[in-house]
Amino acid sequence: MAESFDVIVIGGGPGGYVAALRAAQLGARTAIVEKDRIGGTCLVRGCIPTKGLLQSSELFSLAKGGRPFGLVADNLGFDWPAAQKRKTAVVDQLVKGVEGLLKAGGVTSLRGSARLAGKGAVDIDGDQVQAKDIVIATGSAIARVPLLGAELTIDSDKILELPEVPRRLAVIGGGVVGMEFAAMFAALGSEVTVLEMLPQVLAMVDADLVAVYTKHLSGLGGKIHTNSKVSAIAKSGGALRVTFSEGGQEGVVDADQVLMAVGRVPYTHGLEAEKAGVKLDRYRIVVDEKLHTDADGVWAIGDVIGGIMLAHVASYEGVCAVENIAGHKRIPDYHAAPNCIYTDPEIAHVGLGEKEAKEKGIAVRVGRFPFLASGRALTLGQTEGYVKVLADPDSGKLLGAHIIGPRATDLIAEATLAIQNGLTMEQLDLTIHAHPTLPESLMEAALAAQGRAIHIGNRKSQVPSGGFAATSPASGAERASTSPESADERASPSPVRGEVKTQTAEKSQNREKEMAATLKPSSPPPTAPSAITPKSLELKKENRDFLLGLHREMQLIRRFEERAQEQYTKAKIGGYCHLNIGEEATVVGGITALKPNDWIFTSYREHGHAIARGVDPKAVMAELFGKETGTSHGRGGSMHLVDYAKRFMGGYGIVGGHLPLAVGGGWAVKYRKQKDVIFCMFGDGATNIGAFHESLNMAKVFKLPVVWFCVNNRYGMGTPVEKASAVADIYKKACAYDMESIQVDGMNLREVLLKTSEIVEKTRGDSEPRFVEALCYRFRGHSVVDPDKYRSEDDKVKWRKADPIVAFEHELEKSGLGDEEYFKNVRVEVDNEVKDVIQFADESPDPKTEDLYKYVYAGQWDNNPMLRAERV
Ligand code: FAD
Repeated sequence: MAESFDVIVIGGGPGGYVAALRAAQLGARTAIVEKDRIGGTCLVRGCIPTKGLLQSSELFSLAKGGRPFGLVADNLGFDWPAAQKRKTAVVDQLVKGVEGLLKAGGVTSLRGSARLAGKGAVDIDGDQVQAKDIVIATGSAIARVPLLGAELTIDSDKILELPEVPRRLAVIGGGVVGMEFAAMFAALGSEVTVLEMLPQVLAMVDADLVAVYTKHLSGLGGKIHTNSKVSAIAKSGGALRVTFSEGGQEGVVDADQVLMAVGRVPYTHGLEAEKAGVKLDRYRIVVDEKLHTDADGVWAIGDVIGGIMLAHVASYEGVCAVENIAGHKRIPDYHAAPNCIYTDPEIAHVGLGEKEAKEKGIAVRVGRFPFLASGRALTLGQTEGYVKVLADPDSGKLLGAHIIGPRATDLIAEATLAIQNGLTMEQLDLTIHAHPTLPESLMEAALAAQGRAIHIGNRKSQVPSGGFAATSPASGAERASTSPESADERASPSPVRGEVKTQTAEKSQNREKEMAATLKPSSPPPTAPSAITPKSLELKKENRDFLLGLHREMQLIRRFEERAQEQYTKAKIGGYCHLNIGEEATVVGGITALKPNDWIFTSYREHGHAIARGVDPKAVMAELFGKETGTSHGRGGSMHLVDYAKRFMGGYGIVGGHLPLAVGGGWAVKYRKQKDVIFCMFGDGATNIGAFHESLNMAKVFKLPVVWFCVNNRYGMGTPVEKASAVADIYKKACAYDMESIQVDGMNLREVLLKTSEIVEKTRGDSEPRFVEALCYRFRGHSVVDPDKYRSEDDKVKWRKADPIVAFEHELEKSGLGDEEYFKNVRVEVDNEVKDVIQFADESPDPKTEDLYKYVYAGQWDNNPMLRAERV
């Protein structure tokens, strides 16, 4: 007679064996059937062998970078067969361990292929066993796509058994499995190329984290092609050639091995499940909320039911299913299921993501803490990445945690526990965290989300007096923290930033909150010391915050402009879009020399000038997009960027048209007997027009406090200065008006700042106009549509070597104020900030048609207190 059990589990993976052990614990007579090795995909071909090998590649990377730690390892090499041997030993030990557990737990292990053979019956290679309840845990199999030449590829099973590390590896599919192997082999020295059909690899991960991983991989020489569809694999010479299309263009990658990693599908082959009344949806077994199938007494768990196909989820479902069999009510709850990705750096996340929050319209408060500011991460020498938390703005409940960095896959456990149990950020931060440890970073991220971070700066306007404030703070370990005065100075009535309660500003701020509650505010420029002196610019520790702030500001402006260019090509920005990439030192140095009460008159189109002055980059981008939240309510585009609170009088078309306005500004200041300086910025092209000469002349005749600041990037549109102007040294033109004038190296941030500051202060003192010419170079064409054919490649290459940001980074690095890791992190941080900026602009409303003439004529601004005429 057939042997009889209470519960039979089919499949010995992490779902099946955990279910069997729990069933036995609950007193059920239990059997488990496995046709291959106990442990399933996870132990034999998945989680464990990959992590075993990844440990080897990680050790190799650490050893390669071991010198600063005192490690002396000459002739360092990697022994792949030895790593394989160790991996196999780990797998064998675990398989044996699970077999022992099953035996000790009283579970009967049966070997063979199982088939459902009628109610309560299971056939195992011809032998029948009976059970009151059957749990299907047959897992999943490798998915394949019918590509031309697919037979030449290897899969995630075969790659584990490779005899050697491939010199070149192509990975088809940017999912978790593909990315883990990409990280492993890139660390071992393979040239890795990833081809992913979607716009992003690791589609389930927040884009900001993916950007960090992508950068790291590219640092190892790895390449990622997104939006790329592979069409064929063929032999070519001694290698394999993968052909793909990317944005309509065909590309090829040559590789020694091609890994096909396009996912997994639930596995029911040979089970005859449907015959037994089990419903399938394509390959997936359909279950109800208790994990019961359509067939009486038949349950299913793990990969075979689809959903979250991870080992720990399979085990969790195994426990739920058998507890339901035992009569407890266990409905699986997946809201705190963590996902770990063993790339380098590691990635882990749990709960709500930023993208999901946005799509679902869920308001969240965001807090970040970079590992760069973690003592433990520094001691480990692994400071790449950060912890990001998302919380409910009202209750403070933690809703999501996203980590990229050292041991992210372990760190996620605390956040998982918190989310599972509905803990608040306050409960997290009131828990004593051991020091120095990586989990402190989660606590700090929770604090940062509440504006109370201890080990990174909080922005004053966002520090709540109690409970939760309405906006989410930005953070960054190296960002200069803001003094109370400067925070107040930042108050602005511009449509999207600030706290001055004009009706318009308030309305727009509310709109921003409604529209983009998940977005972080943009970061302000660094706070300058009360006086710019040679001492305050020395490359010393006491000036570090300020100098790093200047560096970050230059990066922010550059990234903003690069992304603006992309937005223009996507037709998000209309009209013209001019780029000043390469001029960052001139712009940041010149503008930082000013005091908050000084006024800036500049050319139209100068986005970077506005940002350097502290105008919110979101408002600037929104203006370029023609959106209601822009600096001029979308009416000006790049032609009129203005922010009265910042005393940024914006740009006025056309070239040089604003110079007479600066004279008017100078008159006003003088008339009011104020000590403010008018700072008028223009390009070299503007110095060849009549308005330039008239303006300089008038400023001198009437002794107006104007500093003329010429951004000489050597080309007025496509014409070189020496061809357009009889006086190639433009500062000499000011001599005609008996004006003190200087020329500065516009690629040298500290020089521009110091010399301009001296000139500005002299003018403040004696109300005499002066002139500064900053010699710089723009790295791109005059505008996005300029093909830039008039400059020789040699010229461009020569100037690129003088990149002002790189030059400043070298200075900071040499003096120990920053290192490569830090600069890398700033780039990531700034990139994320600009992404938020674009997202904000994208999601902002268009001006209403009926309001199109509003804010165009002066009368429309009558209610704006900033513009009300004052009696003097
Ligand atoms: P499986 O582990 O697939 O086990 C099913 C078992 O059923 C197999 O042993 C199979 O032989 C047996 N079986 C099938 N049909 C029959 C039958 N008719 N009769 C008898 N026996 C049968 N997940 C993580 O959580 N973390 C990771 O780091 C991770 N890394 C991975 C890396 C790789 C390369 C791969 C491929 C997967 C990885 N996974 C990881 C996924 C994880 O392995 C699976 O989610 C997990 O193994 C699913 O467990 P399961 O019990 O549902 O199925």
